[in-house]
Amino acid sequence: MSTLQIVRNPATEQVLAEVPGATVEETREAVQRAKRGFREWRALAPGDRATLLRAFGAAVLSHNEELAQLEVRNAGHTISNARWEANNVADVIMYYAGSVERLLGQQIPVAGGVDLTFKEPLGVVGIIVPWNFPMPIASWGFAPALAAGCSVILKPAETTPLSALRLAELAHEAGIPQDVFQVITGVGSVVGEALVRDPDVAKIVFTGSTRVGVRIQELAAAQVKPVTLELGGKSANIIFEDADLDRAASSAPYAVFDNAGQDCCARSRLLVQASVFDAFLERFEAAVKAVRVEDPTLETAEMGPLITPEHRERVASYVDENTILFRGACPEGPGYWYPPTVVGIEDSSHRSVREEIFGPVVVVQRFTDEAHAIALANDSDYGLSGSIWTSNLGRGLRMARALESGALSINSHSSVRYWTPFGGYKRSGLGRELGPDATDAFCETKNVFINTEL
Ligand code: NAP
Ligand code: MG
Repeated sequence: MSTLQIVRNPATEQVLAEVPGATVEETREAVQRAKRGFREWRALAPGDRATLLRAFGAAVLSHNEELAQLEVRNAGHTISNARWEANNVADVIMYYAGSVERLLGQQIPVAGGVDLTFKEPLGVVGIIVPWNFPMPIASWGFAPALAAGCSVILKPAETTPLSALRLAELAHEAGIPQDVFQVITGVGSVVGEALVRDPDVAKIVFTGSTRVGVRIQELAAAQVKPVTLELGGKSANIIFEDADLDRAASSAPYAVFDNAGQDCCARSRLLVQASVFDAFLERFEAAVKAVRVEDPTLETAEMGPLITPEHRERVASYVDENTILFRGACPEGPGYWYPPTVVGIEDSSHRSVREEIFGPVVVVQRFTDEAHAIALANDSDYGLSGSIWTSNLGRGLRMARALESGALSINSHSSVRYWTPFGGYKRSGLGRELGPDATDAFCETKNVFINTEL
């Protein structure tokens, strides 16, 4: 029997909705529907599939404000971030709509015949997403999967299901069949695991914690089921003495406190060259104290609340008052608020240096030279993103090649563009999303040899 999950607004603590939590049996039924949907979807002419995806993208674009407002209420995102996120979903769908007619195979020279490769859709894809960026992360999975000809079952996080449910309605209104794109709500250990265990699910795309990612990979291994994993991070923002200190310091708060630090790409370790340590920190302190933490519905808001009271407890457990260098402010009263917090910890074995806090907390450390910066930055189980600030482009590129990380930026903090690949090294993940090759993750390559000598 289904249970009901209560969905709250993290900025006000008010109940927003009650959403059914599916059972294992209901998940199994959804997979059977998705199998039927797959047969229908893969048989569509590529141009028709592309047209339906473009109609879906257009619907998302025309509902941008509604989707953004929904995410502000459900996830506590600032309205400016949420608008970007809804727009990103439309962009991602449109970009992959353009790949449907470009799922090209190869013709490979062979003796005695012709050799052809075909890209064939995998089948039913299960997409399990976290609560931190509910909409964009879902689209990074479902858009290329649908473009490749797969059917999709999307499982949103239990705390943030509302935008996913609305996206499914928009997809169906745009003409994408119900069985081709389903959203199933419920608890990860029930619905999520049922998707992973189901032999009729051909692939799992998971974004979330490394702990759950490891479990999913273990379960999937029993069926040799492919997985794409986008997991945690503990990325470094590295400031060299030859950097533009004003720009580096004024942007550094947003590299870690954006979305209240609930960002897998958060640069939650700040490595500063010793020769400019004080000069940088002075500028950084002013920038941190200027971050506007307020009601996320306000146009001026730069940071909202954390997602749940339990998560706030967890974040707070990492902060030892004695290590705080300085911190910003946050509202009092209802809502799961936590101030932007800067801690100084030189001991790299400390749990706050090693573990993903996933809140607005940044650990500052100092380094002497390039080799020291590389050693500190790579001394992590994770390897997702990172930033390098220097006016020496040779050094910037040397550092970028030396860091064990999947998405780096020099003199900026960008991580995600829908047309460039995104994903992690080490325990930050497996496989890549976005970029020109993302549809390959949803295809088998079939090789066919035709004997022309007969
Ligand atoms: P989480 O607890 O791992 O949950 C992620 C998703 O997995 C949720 O939908 C969850 O469902 C589901 N789930 C939980 N247990 C499961 C199981 N045994 N089998 C199948 N599914 C299961 O992560 P989170 O706390 O929501 O999100 C924060 C984490 O996501 C952070 O570590 C962050 O770094 C990571 N993240 C990574 C990226 C990236 O691209 N690399 C992007 C964003 C976030 P319920 O919500 O119902 O439990
Ligand atoms: Mg969870």
